[in-house]
Amino acid sequence: MANTLIAGGGIGGLAAALSIAREGNRVTVLERGHRFAELGAGIQLAPNAFRALDLLGVGDRVRERAVFIDELRFMDGTTGDRVAGLPLTGAYRERFGNPYAVVSRGDLYQPLLDACRADGRIELLPGHTVTGYTQSAAKVVVTGRAVDGGEQVSGRVTATSFEADHLIGADGIRSAVRAQLVGDGRPRVSGHTIYRSVIPMDRVPPELRWNVVTLWAGPKWHFVHYPIGGGRFLNLAATRDDGAAREVAGEPVAREVVQNRFPGLSATARALLELGDEWRTWVLCDRDPVSTWVDGRVALLGDAAHPMLQYAAQGACTALEDAVVLGRVFPDLDAYAELRRERTARATLTARRLGEHLYHPAGDAARDRNATLAALSETDLHDHVAWLHAFDLAERIPSDAVR
Ligand SMILES: Cc1cc2nc3c(=O)[nH]c(=O)nc-3n(C[C@H](O)[C@H](O)[C@H](O)COP(=O)(O)OP(=O)(O)OC[C@H]3O[C@@H](n4cnc5c(N)ncnc54)[C@H](O)[C@@H]3O)c2cc1C
Repeated sequence: MANTLIAGGGIGGLAAALSIAREGNRVTVLERGHRFAELGAGIQLAPNAFRALDLLGVGDRVRERAVFIDELRFMDGTTGDRVAGLPLTGAYRERFGNPYAVVSRGDLYQPLLDACRADGRIELLPGHTVTGYTQSAAKVVVTGRAVDGGEQVSGRVTATSFEADHLIGADGIRSAVRAQLVGDGRPRVSGHTIYRSVIPMDRVPPELRWNVVTLWAGPKWHFVHYPIGGGRFLNLAATRDDGAAREVAGEPVAREVVQNRFPGLSATARALLELGDEWRTWVLCDRDPVSTWVDGRVALLGDAAHPMLQYAAQGACTALEDAVVLGRVFPDLDAYAELRRERTARATLTARRLGEHLYHPAGDAARDRNATLAALSETDLHDHVAWLHAFDLAERIPSDAVR
């Protein structure tokens, strides 16, 4: 029975804890926050995420609170015209074996957390920040600090040191483990600013309560909305390619500021945007894919390994996949990285391209995009997403790598 430390108790870290523990190992999760929690609004889960969640034993719990969406709808945000819709019922569910859903982040996180708490092999330590590691042939030593009450408050600070057989860096886009393992500095600032708000659905006019993920595309901006929380809330996310250079994460912003930043929005989309309040803003970041995810007894996972822009809605989905694959081949970290690198690099680069070529074109390029999208059949559209949404985890793992 190996002892494993996981830096970071986000979606990726908890999923990895479950997956490694299920193979009979002890796991300790070190989370810098004063408690285990997932903040933020909604998240889209494609069938590949449900496949992973089922393999982690929490798929049904997540399904209980999920909203199963009928369509990914693409609108021209300036004219208000519907351009295309990727149907997510019937043939889609049959082909991909699972639904496409949207959930509140908490409704994805809580089942993972409950499952970790119920597993006697997993220890959850909040208020523990990982700062680095050293290793020998026999073990890895993880150094850090414990802050009474967590990093957010200025409680008493104690230096910490933990020993284990392995360390998994699941500590997000600004990962301390990655800083040592890869050393590629700060994330790439995309120059895209996102504004997010969640509003009660009863504020939304009944004729606009669509059971779809709707994307309104405009020149250098787009606006997405979808229901979450069992349909009781509407999640709003409006993004501008404004060249923002400073990393921003979750700062409050006045509703007038948001409304003024999207002057070209057509009437229906504007009506929905104007319902938003308590907006928060982020400047989106990612990193170039790298080939090094492993250093001896240490490996990266989730956003620490492959942070991507959210335009393919796959960051958390692929973190869940990472966790399942890691558990299956554990403790062969090189096999894990080999199985995961190519797919996640493709997702990262695809997400960047979607922003530039699908969501933000202007003028003739936007008209060409609309014509191309409108000409695609349902099957064409499904074919386009198949490589991402139909990932079969079992097929990807060679039988001789599975313990
Ligand atoms: C606007 C937006 C929308 C998105 N929409 C989607 C979507 O629709 N679908 C999708 O699949 N993905 C989406 N994503 C991506 C998704 O949120 C992330 O990919 C996912 O949350 C990554 O999980 P993680 O556990 O790897 O990292 P994180 O969620 O960042 O978790 C890292 C954890 O590590 C902790 N930590 C950090 N540093 C340390 C340290 N030094 N020591 C100890 N603990 C530490 C943090 O407190 C945190 O709890 C979106 C992202 C954004 C920004």
